[in-house]
Amino acid sequence: MDFSGWQKLTLVDFDKHMATTLFTAGCDFRCPFCHNRDLVLNPSEAPVIPWDEIVSYLKKRKGILDGVVITGGEPTLMPDLADKLRDIKALGYAIKLDTNGSRPQVLKSLLEAHLVDYVAMDIKNSAEKYAETIGLPKVDMDAIRESISIIMKEAPDYEFRTTIFSELHNEESIRGIGELIHGAKRLFLQRYIDSEHCIQGGFHEVEKEKATAFADLLRNDVEQVSLRGYL
Ligand code: SF4
Repeated sequence: MDFSGWQKLTLVDFDKHMATTLFTAGCDFRCPFCHNRDLVLNPSEAPVIPWDEIVSYLKKRKGILDGVVITGGEPTLMPDLADKLRDIKALGYAIKLDTNGSRPQVLKSLLEAHLVDYVAMDIKNSAEKYAETIGLPKVDMDAIRESISIIMKEAPDYEFRTTIFSELHNEESIRGIGELIHGAKRLFLQRYIDSEHCIQGGFHEVEKEKATAFADLLRNDVEQVSLRGYL
């Protein structure tokens, strides 16, 4: 399977790395606030980027770039993801993987094969509000919990992150997020930005003062809680 999107240079998506970002098409969630509507809803119409072209770029940029971000969609749905990551690793790049955590066994096998240096997993909401927040009638919370546990035990480095918006996040759900990731080292509470490219959109951001209060609620569960996207 080929990648379907490519941002050739990013200075902000992989901490301490000059990176290139590759997007997979398709996702098993339908988060209404998702900004990648076309990749998620119409994967068969997504662009196809020849793998050779990407490899050739990575070979030429070695020494200038040092990281590759794999995002989506949901990258763990890509059947030959491990092969692609192996090729990237062989070129000497560090790899960051973004995931929604729905496929813990794929995550585990990638980590055991030392194919990922940094994992960023979305924690969408408390267990009670998870299905609603991902736009589905139900969710496999065992899989989500297993991914959290695998990442905390086996990832060389990681972050959890939650995009917060007024309609679905409140003090109770934020405490629920703390329960899900109790003992984790890092969580970012990300500002929601509305866009015409969202699957649904039309939500409202949490004001900075309230987001700061949410972060304070999590300090007993997570070592480092930060806001992202707030000035
Ligand atoms: S936000 Fe992530 S998990 Fe949710 S639909 Fe979009 S790509 Fe999938």
